[in-house]
Amino acid sequence: MDFDPYSVDLDVLIPRYLVHAYLYYRQGTTLISDQCFDSIARRLHQEWDNVTHPHKELIEHDALLSGANYIQFPRRIEQAAHYLLDNKPEPQPKQMSFNINKLHKAIDKWSMDQGELDLRIYVPDNSKKKRNHLGMSEIAEPCTRAAWYKFRKIFNKPIEPRMMRLFQRGHREEFIFMHMLREVGLTIWDEDPKTGKQFKVVDFDEHFQGSMDGITKDKKELYIKGKKPFLTEYKTSNDARFKELKKSGLKKWSPKYWGQIQSYMGYEPRLIGCLFCVVNKNTDELYLEWVEPDKSAFKLCQSNAEEILSAERPPRRISNRPAFWLCKMCDFKNHCFKKDVESAKSCRSCRNAYPAENGEWGCDLGKEYGELCDKWEDCNVK
Ligand code: SF4
Ligand code: SF4
Repeated sequence: MDFDPYSVDLDVLIPRYLVHAYLYYRQGTTLISDQCFDSIARRLHQEWDNVTHPHKELIEHDALLSGANYIQFPRRIEQAAHYLLDNKPEPQPKQMSFNINKLHKAIDKWSMDQGELDLRIYVPDNSKKKRNHLGMSEIAEPCTRAAWYKFRKIFNKPIEPRMMRLFQRGHREEFIFMHMLREVGLTIWDEDPKTGKQFKVVDFDEHFQGSMDGITKDKKELYIKGKKPFLTEYKTSNDARFKELKKSGLKKWSPKYWGQIQSYMGYEPRLIGCLFCVVNKNTDELYLEWVEPDKSAFKLCQSNAEEILSAERPPRRISNRPAFWLCKMCDFKNHCFKKDVESAKSCRSCRNAYPAENGEWGCDLGKEYGELCDKWEDCNVK
């Protein structure tokens, strides 16, 4: 049940700290690792002045880093801890593992013997792509408030030509990856034969969607036994980030991609895992990782999606300090922290707009959604 304490609201950390301290000190058990508990305590200690949760007064700031055995735990905290204990996730069955080394060697051999390469590459027109839904790559972002701002189109950041080329590069690399993996024996479908489009998973009345790069089978059982389908996802990275990935592995490197993959596998439980492939754009080095499904990560992504879809107002901040490192880099920092910064003018940024059935949107005031009315001036959300 570990989680990244820096990816949740500061005030949410107080009850979590208390629940896990109660389990450890009073019940002699634990649901999270020592490292995770220590990270919660460390963050609370660092950002103590910004904590506003009423249970703050139960904890002594100076004792956060030394232990919590002295706390008078409120009844509600005890109940929450026992609830978690009674409902802890079942251990997940061990999946068959994928022979990544063998695949690396096969790709290296193919790279040396490749000869002429005649690839037909399809790059979609990104300039015409308008995303209306909440993407599965967004719900595992560390700040749900930022994901909400994006979903509500509070600010539409202009895309520079360099970014368009970056997206196009990503699409081109997908084709190279697919070609290489097919050449070394894997069978890959990049389109759903039923629709002729990318494989898609949808939930919450079509407001939550994701498109998978590929569904793959190792029919010859060269790298994994069982001929069962698995997901393939392709990404690109610059050199500095690639080095970090090699050190830390996907889960720590990108909670965003981790959540995206777990959501796909959660909604498509026939997939036995994911072959996650990354190319270093500076050196062409490849990184391949086998990722197993994690049901609790999927549930967390689902509940984040539900929170973002149902919130009429921005969810709590990840930090109340604009100088917090994530806030400094956030596209929405002005809307989040400054007063009188206007949202992009559309019904989507109005408090009265709500996600309706079949991916449609409605207006709580019974007006025609999409026909911006004079209520917007009072009702736009920041
Ligand atoms: S500025 Fe910080 S708190 Fe606000 S949306 Fe961005 S990351 Fe979240
Ligand atoms: S029609 Fe008016 S009230 Fe309804 S969502 Fe649009 S701006 Fe808001």
